[in-house]
Amino acid sequence: MSQVKKVAVVGSGTMGNGIAHVFAQHDFAVSLIDTSADALKKGLATIEKNLERQIKKGVLQESDKQRTLANIRTFSVIADGVKEADLVVEAATENTDIKFSIFRELDLHAPPTAILATNTSSISITRIANATKRPEQVIGMHFMNPVPVMELVEVIRGYRTGQATIDTVLSCCRAIAKTPVEVNDYPGFVANRILMPMINEAIYSLYEGVAGVEEIDTVMKLGMSHPMGPLHLADFIGLDVCLAILRVLHDGFGNPKYAPCPLLINMVEAGHLGVKAGVGFYEYTPGSKEKIVAARFSNRQ
Ligand code: NAD
Repeated sequence: MSQVKKVAVVGSGTMGNGIAHVFAQHDFAVSLIDTSADALKKGLATIEKNLERQIKKGVLQESDKQRTLANIRTFSVIADGVKEADLVVEAATENTDIKFSIFRELDLHAPPTAILATNTSSISITRIANATKRPEQVIGMHFMNPVPVMELVEVIRGYRTGQATIDTVLSCCRAIAKTPVEVNDYPGFVANRILMPMINEAIYSLYEGVAGVEEIDTVMKLGMSHPMGPLHLADFIGLDVCLAILRVLHDGFGNPKYAPCPLLINMVEAGHLGVKAGVGFYEYTPGSKEKIVAARFSNRQ
């Protein structure tokens, strides 16, 4: 099993900065790469803010914060950031063409021994691997949001991923204090294959007038011990993201049970995307994640 010391993270958005944070905190040398200078600046600011939160909670000390930040270097060009990497974790925008083009570049510029991982939520690892000449070294590392807090990494074995790649990635996950779970490469993997139909069913229950937003969420919170109701969770994930993943499940399996609820489609078309839009199944205080009230639904009023 190869020893990973240098990690490059491509994409400095919501997930990329969290992934850079956890590797740097555990003493890996991290190159954080983004084509947007603004995203790099925001990514570093978020890492600093999250480290301060960990210090306030008593989980880390001030010296850990300085050490973590010193372990991160930023780059705006992939070729510069990955040239010495043992492991690259791609966490760029969820778009097939963008991922294929990044993996072609990674294959050209990362050392031939480097493992190329993707944090994609829904794109086939096997297809992404085909963009490279090293498919046995391509794998899925599906981190959960927020990365510094969530323990799970879904490790996805593409059709041609080699056992040495899997073993190295499992050991890297443990080295950053995460729990890896190995799964095979089928639409939605495991997390989204189970979560998204549940969210879709919650939306159908609202659409068919079985119950209101707060009632549905309360049943799942108090009845099933979920920390957050499925409609509130959908607002956090983004309704556009939920719709895109349901379409991947629907297309990938060709099974009508994954068909997205028409209310979800309408809400996405109306721009009611959840927390990031200020309105979804709930209304939110502008610029904050705090919910105010359940939104009103025209099909029931
Ligand atoms: P995001 O939009 O917050 O960040 C994406 C970043 O990628 C942006 O900063 C963008 O500038 C950068 N980028 C785009 N093209 C690039 C390129 N060619 N080279 C370098 N950087 C580039 O997205 P996100 O929510 O962090 O999602 C990233 C990935 O993680 C996606 O594949 C997504 O499906 C997956 N994911 C997201 C979540 C989540 O809850 N947000 C959870 C699990 C997995």
